[in-house]
Amino acid sequence: MSPVIAVLLMGVAPAWAQQNPADLGARLLKEPAVRAAVAAARADEPATIAEQIEICEVEAPPFKEQKRAELYARKFRALGLQNVRIDAEGNVLGERPGTAPRPHLVFSAHLDTVFPEGTDVTVKRDGPRLAAPGIGDDCRGLTVVLAVVRALNAAKVQTPGPITFVGTVGEEGLGDLRGVKYLFNEGLKGRIDRFVSVDGTGLGAANVAVGSLRYRITVKGPGGHSYGAFGMSNPIHALGRIIASVAEFDVPREPKTTFNVGRIGGGTSVNSIPFEAWAEVDMRSADPASLQSLDARFHQAVDRAVAEEDARWGQRVLSVDKALVGNRPAGQSPPDSAIVRTAISVSRALDLPLVLDEGSTDSNIPMSLGIPAITINGGGRGQRAHSLDETFDTTDSWQGTVRAVLLAIALTQP
Ligand SMILES: [Zn+2]
Repeated sequence: MSPVIAVLLMGVAPAWAQQNPADLGARLLKEPAVRAAVAAARADEPATIAEQIEICEVEAPPFKEQKRAELYARKFRALGLQNVRIDAEGNVLGERPGTAPRPHLVFSAHLDTVFPEGTDVTVKRDGPRLAAPGIGDDCRGLTVVLAVVRALNAAKVQTPGPITFVGTVGEEGLGDLRGVKYLFNEGLKGRIDRFVSVDGTGLGAANVAVGSLRYRITVKGPGGHSYGAFGMSNPIHALGRIIASVAEFDVPREPKTTFNVGRIGGGTSVNSIPFEAWAEVDMRSADPASLQSLDARFHQAVDRAVAEEDARWGQRVLSVDKALVGNRPAGQSPPDSAIVRTAISVSRALDLPLVLDEGSTDSNIPMSLGIPAITINGGGRGQRAHSLDETFDTTDSWQGTVRAVLLAIALTQP
């Protein structure tokens, strides 16, 4: 592609943002190929559910998603996606070209679960109900992504913009969104125009990304005998001062902003001044500014508490390490943004409800970067996600699949 054409195409995105896509879903549904794709997805739902079971039965523990990633890559290849690969972070990617290089849509779900290696992931089926750890979160999303490719192929839909289909790693917990961070910061940096994550069950969508910062604070000192060395700064006392300050933080109720000291530890015996104490702290907000302000106060509180403990004994012996162990940036796709209006129009065209909500998902990264993004649920009804008793009710789950198909087509429009 010549640079001139590339520049012209890049001019397309703002036009999309300004036009009103309120009737986009209905307009697209008038096209025979689009209608055929939607019908194919609905008819294919039994195969989609069978595939959901198959994927779920290949475990994908945190930081060990490889086995499931390889299965997913094989499925991408079997569906005819191009340039199928597993990138340096472990994400699986496959491309379906459009008639033009932009807008480039990334349509994804996450490979990882919260369950450790060796968890029994055999799916038990009881009528419409499936039970297994990870069956909904996010085997449903992974399956819906594949169903979208299958439906587009079945109806020979030629989308204007290309779609890269992705299975991401590290969405859960300490994975800290490492897969999607790699996509936006390295692998596909500067090349993603729109982003969809299919995550969770039901028919909702998340357009607000709740940000979180997580720290592991470690206070260290020389330590000594509780009687013999009395008069020495005490890391656990310093930690107590830190926790007392955190507990008094004033945070806004709206936008909801929260803090929590979730774990503490340290010390070796009741009659020793400890040489180490630690705490794990979680802070969240949907509002980037509120999260930033809370973070600044947290750093001050830690430093002040440690200094106070040292000052209490007239010493300077304590050190503190503030290790950032989790960083999910906040952001949002505003309710009147083109991507949210598109999702609403698609749901409306299919006569499905769409309730907007907050979430902490792969979409946090594009939302924090100002790139249009939304997380949609994959249909069906899930219960007890993140527990060993997780279930997924397949009743009318096709609704989630057909909505994903139509949304994918809609988001490739210039
Ligand atoms: Zn999930």
